[in-house]
Amino acid sequence: MRLLISVLIFTLLAGCAQNPVTGSNDFVMMSESQEIAIGRQNDEQVKKQYKVYGSKALQDYVNYVGQRIAKNSHRPDLQYHFTVLDTPDINAFALPGGYIYITRGILAYLNSEAELAAVLGHEIGHVTARHGVRQQSAAEAANIGITIASIFVPQINTPAAGNLINLGGGALLSGYGREHELEADRLGAQYLARTGYDPQAIITVIGVLKNQELQDIQLAQREGREPRRYHGLFASHPDNDTRLHQAVDEAEKYASSDSHFEGRRDFLAAIEGLVFNDNSEQGIVRYNAFYHGELGIALQFPPSWQVHNLPTALIAIAPQGEVQLQMLLDDSPRGTPDEYARRLTGSGAQISTLNVNGLEAALFDQSNTAGGVVFFKGHAFILQARGKTRAGLAAHRAEIISTVKSFHALTSDERRLVKPLTLHIITARAGDTFAALAQDSPLGQSAEEYLRLINARYPGGEPQPGQLIKLVR
Ligand SMILES: [Zn+2]
Repeated sequence: MRLLISVLIFTLLAGCAQNPVTGSNDFVMMSESQEIAIGRQNDEQVKKQYKVYGSKALQDYVNYVGQRIAKNSHRPDLQYHFTVLDTPDINAFALPGGYIYITRGILAYLNSEAELAAVLGHEIGHVTARHGVRQQSAAEAANIGITIASIFVPQINTPAAGNLINLGGGALLSGYGREHELEADRLGAQYLARTGYDPQAIITVIGVLKNQELQDIQLAQREGREPRRYHGLFASHPDNDTRLHQAVDEAEKYASSDSHFEGRRDFLAAIEGLVFNDNSEQGIVRYNAFYHGELGIALQFPPSWQVHNLPTALIAIAPQGEVQLQMLLDDSPRGTPDEYARRLTGSGAQISTLNVNGLEAALFDQSNTAGGVVFFKGHAFILQARGKTRAGLAAHRAEIISTVKSFHALTSDERRLVKPLTLHIITARAGDTFAALAQDSPLGQSAEEYLRLINARYPGGEPQPGQLIKLVR
């Protein structure tokens, strides 16, 4: 009995952990080591889901800025990990235990080290206030993509399954509730001030990202893709502006000196050459067409379907989720396309061979699965659709077949489309205008809008002579 009581007391103590920010006791059933363990586990998942951006110099720079802020936070002794993810998504997020991620997509829109510090400071705020632990949403958020993948990626039972690799790109994430977002801003502002940055950078970043978010709805429509937006921005900020300004103003009292470090030149030097928008390595989706430069392939999904270019899978979903069509790649297929299709579907399937734009292929059809196999340059591309119901699949059969039939080798025009664009820093000369700088840009008719957005000169304003500005090439 005594033992039981002491076990109970111990459990209750462990359950009531002290909040590092408020000093009050939060009723969370988690110790710091459990928190770190959750962060570490989910970190593996995030890195499976997203690629880590390939520039070590940029990773080092972000880590340098992040570690300095973390040292001035409420949890200076926690081990922090900062990672730049290779995705055009506009995002930054934190997992419990000090794992913080920032996308190359968001970096393109920032213009100084102080603004980078603002984004990282906000995420550090989520970690120090234990938001992820308090509502578990970070861990859940990080699992969204994985859940999508596991729901929509049924295992294909074939001897080739071990060889099946997926094509990818990606999208994620949420944010916390309004109160947690405001708290993260307030804490971030304090940490910025303590580290020698202007806490007002938080307001600047929110303005930049708000413009980006509003404008990107139109840009995305023009480019035939999903809009990109920062987590929780509209959820947390629009009608809380007064409280946000108050929180940031109050942070001034923590400033270590009167002068603030802006670090515009340092930051811009660090992002020279940064990949902008889609990275061709993951393939791109435009108007429901998929292009992949390295594989040299293209295909067209039905216009009303939703195409998800996830790092682990390329998936198209028919309206109302009636049918999921997934593309898989087998890099060492055996036999002919119809033999391959036979192994994939088993007995009882209808198989027919055909020529798809000069490529050997086969169509298959069996109760609630249908699709095709196309052989190209020693690879088998498997387009397999599954219906929620047989009737649903039958209703979309013509679209599935036309998707298979659209498969073709990338043309030279399409290849230009998948070349990655990169950021370059130049010094503006007298008379430079964004309209003039946008001429002959690979961004086409959206070029001026993009240049204004990434240089924080939206909707008006021109480069000042001698000012460093970003161009996209
Ligand atoms: Zn946040």
